[in-house]
Amino acid sequence: GGEAALQPLDASKLIFTKTKTPMSVPEPGDPIINTSSQCTDHMITAVWRAGTGWDAPELKPYGNLSLPPTASALHYATECFEGMKMYRGFDGKLRLFRPDANCRRMLVSSTRIALPGFDPKELEKLIIAMIAVDGPKWLPKSRPGTFLYLRPTMIGSAGALGVATPKEATLFVISTFMPTLGGPKGMRLLASQNGVRAWPGGFGFAKVGANYGPTLMANQEAVTRGYDQVLWLLDGVVTEAGASNFFVVWRSKEGKVQLVTAPLGEKIILDGVTRRSILQLVRERLTDGSASGLEPVEIVERKFTMEDVVEAVREGRMIEAFAAGTAFFVCPVTVISYKDEDLPIPMVRGETGEYAGLIKSWLVDIMYGKVDHPWGVVI
Ligand code: PMP
Repeated sequence: GGEAALQPLDASKLIFTKTKTPMSVPEPGDPIINTSSQCTDHMITAVWRAGTGWDAPELKPYGNLSLPPTASALHYATECFEGMKMYRGFDGKLRLFRPDANCRRMLVSSTRIALPGFDPKELEKLIIAMIAVDGPKWLPKSRPGTFLYLRPTMIGSAGALGVATPKEATLFVISTFMPTLGGPKGMRLLASQNGVRAWPGGFGFAKVGANYGPTLMANQEAVTRGYDQVLWLLDGVVTEAGASNFFVVWRSKEGKVQLVTAPLGEKIILDGVTRRSILQLVRERLTDGSASGLEPVEIVERKFTMEDVVEAVREGRMIEAFAAGTAFFVCPVTVISYKDEDLPIPMVRGETGEYAGLIKSWLVDIMYGKVDHPWGVVI
């Protein structure tokens, strides 16, 4: 006989324990929403142990975790997470946007920090089970066009101080209110001068907590100086804007309109679900003759530098720039500070670029069910 098979993560074994003390749902405009701390009534948890694999997952009342002070995550950043939203559609239905992509990325992240694997489909089923319980109450039908933020997380929970692959891990899924980020006035970015977020051979492609804590100091400096986010450079190469992917639309020297964003190949940027979706929709809808009235665009995923951006602005070839991600959605950029100079980035009517505006409307239509699309998964 070989080794006993490890139990796989299995959503069909989910154990339900409903809360006996339901919380009340904040009204729109309640200041608690801006604190990103108000969670819904329930959470999912599942524990993995070396030797046996995944225990039966549980849906239980939202509450504190209990961890030994020696837990791996508290010392060695064995932590990864996902960020996705559930949307209350204008047709009254609840939807997720491409949850399969988030669940697959969670596996990429957990693998990078030696946390256990799982079938991403099972994680997706667990997330859906939680929404089925909390969604109808916390995102009421009477409030179409609203969303809740979902945070699947995995931590090394084994109590052992050795620097070693954790022998126990805890997966959990919580759901919170979150303010709508990214104002209509456009984002002001401060290009990083000294600090870097990620580097070749590192872990910038993984959604691990270790990518975020160390950026807060630079972000705080940016805010102090009157900017919203850091535009992360690596040796002058443009990578990401805060916790979002970054796009520019410019006219090439040959006169073509191009949508340009950093490539995934060096594994220094996150493979954003919004980024992917934008590239695919633009490829489908905007690369040949245009039904939109906008000039067709060529998609360019390649390394580009801040000097390229400066040159495009100086030569009047910059059309627009925007950040894209789940939290900030598609957010126009109005200024980039580089080497202590504010570079103005065009926006139409001081609101958005025309390309960003169109792309945003396509995504809104899918997320909130104004059109049927396979990326909008009805719960
Ligand atoms: N880059 C980083 C560093 C991020 O944290 C995020 C947010 N997950 C993104 C990009 C955007 O990814 P997504 O579109 O999947 O939210």
